Amino acid sequence: MIFCFQAIMYQNYYFCTVRKNMKISVSTLNPHIMKFDPATKIQDLLQFGEFGDVNPSITDSATYTFMEAETMVDTFHGEQEGCFLYSRHWNPSNRYLAEALAAMEGTESAWVTASGMAAITSAILQLCKCGSHIVSSVTTYGGTFAFLANYMKKFQIEVTFVDPTNHQQIKDAIRPNTTLIYTETMTNPLLQICDIEALAKIADDHGIKLLVDNTFTPMIFAPAKLGAHIVVYSMTKFINGKNDCVAGAICADEQFINDLADVNTGTAMLLGPVLDPLRSSSIRKNLFTLHIRMKQHSHNAMYLAEKFKEIGLKFIYPGMPEHPQHELMKKIMNPDFGFGGMIAIDMETAEKASQLMEKMQEKGVGYLAVSLGYFKTLFSNSGKSTSSEVPEELQREMGMSEGLIRFSVGLDNNIERTFDLIQESLKELKFI
Ligand code: PLP
Repeated sequence: MIFCFQAIMYQNYYFCTVRKNMKISVSTLNPHIMKFDPATKIQDLLQFGEFGDVNPSITDSATYTFMEAETMVDTFHGEQEGCFLYSRHWNPSNRYLAEALAAMEGTESAWVTASGMAAITSAILQLCKCGSHIVSSVTTYGGTFAFLANYMKKFQIEVTFVDPTNHQQIKDAIRPNTTLIYTETMTNPLLQICDIEALAKIADDHGIKLLVDNTFTPMIFAPAKLGAHIVVYSMTKFINGKNDCVAGAICADEQFINDLADVNTGTAMLLGPVLDPLRSSSIRKNLFTLHIRMKQHSHNAMYLAEKFKEIGLKFIYPGMPEHPQHELMKKIMNPDFGFGGMIAIDMETAEKASQLMEKMQEKGVGYLAVSLGYFKTLFSNSGKSTSSEVPEELQREMGMSEGLIRFSVGLDNNIERTFDLIQESLKELKFI
């Protein structure tokens, strides 16, 4: 009897693929199951590890053995399913996480990256060539803005920045060489809500792609189900939720993900922003509690928004009827997960914002820190931090006050107490 490592490996992998596809059988008559529910999609995905382990073992290998040279050749050509080649290409641990993300997003496939920026830049570069044109929301994460506004110039790729809620402006900006429309579902930091269905229609009408960053609103929105062609995430934020690593994801159809991984032309394969399998394994575990966390983030942010309204603060929260896209959000969101954990207050000047943030940190409201989606509340002055790459005149033009404090509301069990601490901070500084 001939034993080969490869056979054992394949056997294990096929064993996984066969069993991982098991889905909980549900009656299609149940209306709660008929709607797209990202949390249930993840719940229904049973991923069996190599030894039936519920948390599949972490593949701690950069390279993989082949017992027959021919199989290696086929794998390089993408013709050998179930084989792993080299971990910059695919790693079993990354594949488990990618499969769970694709289930959550309702896409055919997904790819995981070493940061959110790696996901964004790989997806954009895969779609563009020298001389392409991009239409992008002007309100995006500052790093994305800098990449589009400054870095893409190297490739003679022009970007027209638009108000993502102004569809006529988007249509007018499209040129014959436009390859994609880029936006965030809930924009950073102004928390505008984009009508993904309408943007997807514009993209389809022009034969171009709609690429959506859904970092602020995983589960709340399912952009691919609304027509977006590619969905990207900074998993650093809500998806992982622990602030212990940076990571990203690209969810799309099989063809696009295969293109990214192509050994000759794939941006992800060739630029190599691969996620470490130790990290993907821990992110995967955190993904399974995302739905509970999103509900609590949203619950707490809603509570604060109502209280901010009571005390007359100037703030932005899409869960409030006053928000210009509140009705739109209600129409396209998955209501089970609320209006999200992000809220922004306007202190009008950067100085007042700094004083308030320092005071709130002193009182234990949370941390004066960038980033979001953590179990503790985080706050920062967007114009001076995560949007500082956007020129100040443009910040003002898009309606971003220099005193804007963006809150990522934590998982506080006693949000009433948190509000009291915020109110005390405001009173002590004589801001209210
Ligand atoms: N997208 C959004 C909306 C962000 O807020 C950020 C970072 O703050 C990123 C992308 C970039 O992600 P990462 O820091 O994981 O590279």
